[in-house]
Amino acid sequence: MTALHDLSITELARKLRTKVVSAVELAQHSMDRIEEHGKLGAFLATDTLETLRQAQAADERIAAGDDSLLAGIPVAHKDIFVTKAFASTAGSKMLQDYRSPFDATVVAKLAQAGMVTVGKVNCDEFAMGSSNENSAYRPVKNPWDVSRVPGGSSGGSAVAVAARIVPASTGTDTGGSIRQPASFCGVTGIKPTYGRASRYGMIAFASSLDQAGPMARSAEDCALLLSAMCGPDPDRDSTSLDMPPEDFTRKLDESIEGLRIGLPKEFFGEGLGDDVRRAIEEALEQFVKLGAKIVDVTLPRTQLAIPVYYIIAPAEASSNLARFDGVKYGHRAKDYVDLLDMYKKTRAQGFGDEVKRRIMIGTYVLSHGYYDAYYLQAQKIRRMIADDFQQAFKECDVIAGPVAPSVAWHLGAHGSDPLADYLADIFTLPGSLAGLPGMSIPCGFGAAGMPVGMQLLGNYFGEAKLLNAAHRFQQATDFHLRKPEGAL
Ligand code: GLN
Repeated sequence: MTALHDLSITELARKLRTKVVSAVELAQHSMDRIEEHGKLGAFLATDTLETLRQAQAADERIAAGDDSLLAGIPVAHKDIFVTKAFASTAGSKMLQDYRSPFDATVVAKLAQAGMVTVGKVNCDEFAMGSSNENSAYRPVKNPWDVSRVPGGSSGGSAVAVAARIVPASTGTDTGGSIRQPASFCGVTGIKPTYGRASRYGMIAFASSLDQAGPMARSAEDCALLLSAMCGPDPDRDSTSLDMPPEDFTRKLDESIEGLRIGLPKEFFGEGLGDDVRRAIEEALEQFVKLGAKIVDVTLPRTQLAIPVYYIIAPAEASSNLARFDGVKYGHRAKDYVDLLDMYKKTRAQGFGDEVKRRIMIGTYVLSHGYYDAYYLQAQKIRRMIADDFQQAFKECDVIAGPVAPSVAWHLGAHGSDPLADYLADIFTLPGSLAGLPGMSIPCGFGAAGMPVGMQLLGNYFGEAKLLNAAHRFQQATDFHLRKPEGAL
């Protein structure tokens, strides 16, 4: 018999309906696995009583005939989302033990659908990072090889799914933080079009880029969560799109005969590891077998995405993080002589190195005299990058490529060289700057047997098409079902 933690959400939903298992048992099973996999460092907060209370409520809903497929399904939330019931730290000492008076919209929506929160998961501090090593609490380890990073910033979210602790989790993606850890850990993740999911209650990093999305084993499971997470939130997030909620599962089974998959030549050039290239090329052959057509496209400003992103994101971060001043919430320095001294000490103690680095870069590029030279130029190139995608989408329906140039690297490999992390973001940043939907699907294995993810990027509001392509691929392959030995 398949273990409970290997079942898909649809299969679990069926077992819940037929009373083979209860939501309380599922929640308990997840919590047991959190303990068993404690060494991976994925979870920052749990609360057994709260989780069991939510599970009991889900069992009652199911008994009363509730037909939400998500009712009673365990979920873990990235610690960037604020929650009433669990502390919300954003991976930072600045918010150690912080309790929010409300739930983030995405958390509330998944709770309304009946999902049971088993805990909050680790991430890079304020979602700044690519390896989860910037968490102020502890690094997260990749279950495929615990000497390697899980990716970031949603590393805990990816590991919780990869280690079969939960069937699904939430993540956030500002410049790749859902796609890249999904790729490194062999799970599926999708970042929707900017504005699809409300940012209310998502601790802000770079507001014009931040988006929430689900991580799960399959595209089908991601589609279920994404449908529940998205929708307008006009009173709370002015950038949330005025589009009715969509059922992203509706196109999953459609044929992809004739689907035009664009390959940007810039995504396959120098710097891409041979192992990753091979896995992507083999996966593309599978897409061709399914009827897709491969076309060559170009995204000529791909290289510029790195400097542009690392100007815009820190600029927005420096402004967003100004609120952590020791007055309103979070950490406050104990000893100080006056208000200014309190601000300085609070921020010096509360923020980690990478966050400070970004605040300094952001403040610099926004300062008088440099604003025009850096920030304004970056904004202009950002628009050109978005335009390049529109040119490419004249030739193709979806764009495919690698998520990252390599498989997950070893913990500590980038040492104190933040640029090494920044450069590894090259393939995820362009889609983020353009606000496009993007996903990562497990598509093979590279060096040292580590998972490789294929990135699929769609045009605005093309989530259903992406999920359709990913689902058809997953029906024909089993990469998404493979699991690290430690997760047995
Ligand atoms: N790695 C990128 C960064 O460090 C992206 C992070 C994210 O998407 N939150 O900014």
